[in-house]
Amino acid sequence: MKNIIDFYGAQLPVFKSSLHIHSTVSDGDFSPEEVIRLYSEAGYDVLAFSDHHKTNPVSTYDGKGMTILSGMEIHPIGPRNVIWHLLALGVPEDLPGTYPNGQAAIDAVTAAGGIVFCAHPNGAFSSHDILQLQGLTGIEVANTNGRFTGREYNDQCWNELIAEGWRCSALAVDDMHTACDLFQNWTMIAAENPSPQALLDALKCGRFYATQGPQFKRLSWKDGVFEAEFSEVVEAFVYGFPGMDIIATPGFPTPETSPRITSLRCRPTEGFRGVLRCRIRDAQNRCAWSNPITYSE
Ligand SMILES: [Zn+2]
Ligand SMILES: [Zn+2]
Repeated sequence: MKNIIDFYGAQLPVFKSSLHIHSTVSDGDFSPEEVIRLYSEAGYDVLAFSDHHKTNPVSTYDGKGMTILSGMEIHPIGPRNVIWHLLALGVPEDLPGTYPNGQAAIDAVTAAGGIVFCAHPNGAFSSHDILQLQGLTGIEVANTNGRFTGREYNDQCWNELIAEGWRCSALAVDDMHTACDLFQNWTMIAAENPSPQALLDALKCGRFYATQGPQFKRLSWKDGVFEAEFSEVVEAFVYGFPGMDIIATPGFPTPETSPRITSLRCRPTEGFRGVLRCRIRDAQNRCAWSNPITYSE
């Protein structure tokens, strides 16, 4: 029985998804077959191969019960001669692997029916760079492999993008290359079904959340009240944009006094009609992040 999320009034199954994966097709340690076995045995529903500059022949793979998405990590040269990392998902298996610049890559992926996220932006992309690009779906907020290059977390970049007016969504991914990258960051997609098209449609419109373990069960914002229900955590924040850093938290727990909480309810400042996102953190210091939502009556 699939877990169901109440996603702002829509009751939908959620699919546990690992969307940034390398295999021996580029510089990963595991063959595609081994990758599929590892994630399938760990209970995942969706896997996307995203080897550097190359697609995988995913239509020939046995997904072992999972939906396998075709993807690619693309590396155009950005400003300051920095090598960019763009995560393309839902691309045809014959998609070319090199592009003259980031916008050309995004345009080609979009024209082919795919979507593009900015991978582990810290250090390579400034929020200013990202805002120059047209057609991106979002960024990665957490990237397991990124801990080796100081790019594990991208909360600050995400906040800057939202503050500039882009309701940008964010994935959590393993960016799996080696065994020590396995199963630490993933994305829960709320979709009608696990077909590639339904999953991509949900990703496109931000109907998902990023997590390292905690689960959102209900998200709601109506009659001026924001509410979230989730698995047991010790901290929950709601960030408001523009101009309000933290608009709700049940307290500042210490290790000794940590209250265990499973819901949050707050009424943002009277009349607030901006954008919110929620972050929760459990006793093992694992986070989950909801995507920004705009108030609607
Ligand atoms: Zn990368
Ligand atoms: Zn990667």
